[in-house]
Amino acid sequence: MNIHEYQAKEVLKSYGVRIQEGIVAETPEAALEAAKKLNAETGTSWYVIKAQIHAGGRGKGKVQETDSNGVVLAKKLEDVAEKAKNILGGTLVTHQTGPEGKKVNKVLIAEDVYYPGDSEPKEYYLSILLDRAKGSNVIMASTEGGMDIEEVAENHPEKIIKEWIDPKVGLQGFQARKVAFKLGLEGNAFKEMVKFITALYAAYEGTDSSQFEINPVLKTSDNKILAVDAKVNLDDNALYRHKDLADLRDLAEEDPLEVEAGESGLNYVKLEGNVGCMVNGAGLAMATMDMIKLSGGEPANFLDVGGGANATTVEAGFRIILKDPNVKAILINVFGGIVRCDRIANGVVEAYKSIGDISVPIIVRLQGTNAEEGARIIDESGLKVSSAITLKEAAEKVKSAIA
Ligand code: GDP
Ligand code: MN
Repeated sequence: MNIHEYQAKEVLKSYGVRIQEGIVAETPEAALEAAKKLNAETGTSWYVIKAQIHAGGRGKGKVQETDSNGVVLAKKLEDVAEKAKNILGGTLVTHQTGPEGKKVNKVLIAEDVYYPGDSEPKEYYLSILLDRAKGSNVIMASTEGGMDIEEVAENHPEKIIKEWIDPKVGLQGFQARKVAFKLGLEGNAFKEMVKFITALYAAYEGTDSSQFEINPVLKTSDNKILAVDAKVNLDDNALYRHKDLADLRDLAEEDPLEVEAGESGLNYVKLEGNVGCMVNGAGLAMATMDMIKLSGGEPANFLDVGGGANATTVEAGFRIILKDPNVKAILINVFGGIVRCDRIANGVVEAYKSIGDISVPIIVRLQGTNAEEGARIIDESGLKVSSAITLKEAAEKVKSAIA
């Protein structure tokens, strides 16, 4: 699960990570109030206005409606509301959002930490993530922080420092010092960086995260080290241990169909194709998607209704698939192991009747316990649903349905 920068910074701060302070706002008026409050608390007189979306690249990104960047600097209190207005409610397109962009509902008003007249602010890159192949966590760091880290990783991989951490023993002091040393730091800045890395790792572990990315980490001319940006990716499977973090979820940032599926207990991932599929079991779902491709179609989604599928889950699945305008045919492929095929068939018929007015052809393949009875129920229902026994047969029916 992703969270917003402003939320991530609060989480990091609670673990003792120094951050660029800020206050979130949803209207231009609230942005101005936030700036005033920030001025009182931190003394800052320049303000950074940052679009809050679940994607990076905001600094270089453009708000379509106003041509504003997603991160802008206001050098006067009077400019804050106007600049926030040019971002709020707009559609921000960055290299991570795709061409359709993301709607901005909130901005973070942050203190300016690149002090005016500061000749030497230095931007570093720091991330912690899970290295699945090595079964450990890895800290990645670079002196080339800022907005072009992808380019650095691509063309100068030697400039990325890596330090692997055994999750059983955790981060050792010498490892934090090694990273700070390789970043070329000394004196107070070195000490500050060691503290920063140590606190950051504690936050990573404590929140059961799968990825942290802090870009840039800033070194000010008075040798403070702080997080100017924060991308935090929490491990969904550990959220049950963190009620407070689970509450940070922003449904507005997620695909509405995926949210709806999650509420019905379905594993749904929206894809770009034209054949909707409803399958039980992830392995069968993958095989079904392959089959759709082989028959000349493209899957419109991955949908695993789970082992305990019933009429309710089938109906929920149907409704979600039908909301996707690209869907030209639906293939239901269910193996009756725990669930019986006749129950699924009844579920399909019931769902069909309750939704009414389904114009796309539906092909149902039921195999396993009570398969024949399932096929009979489908055939006798009088609905525009056709049944198939073999995969090949199902593939051929899909092919003619989308032709
Ligand atoms: P991203 O583009 O989505 O990664 O957003 P960031 O939070 O990394 O901000 C983008 C850029 O804005 C940073 O790389 C900085 O160059 C700039 N920036 C952020 N905070 C400040 C600040 O306090 N003062 C100034 N002058 N620039 C800032
Ligand atoms: Mn950034």
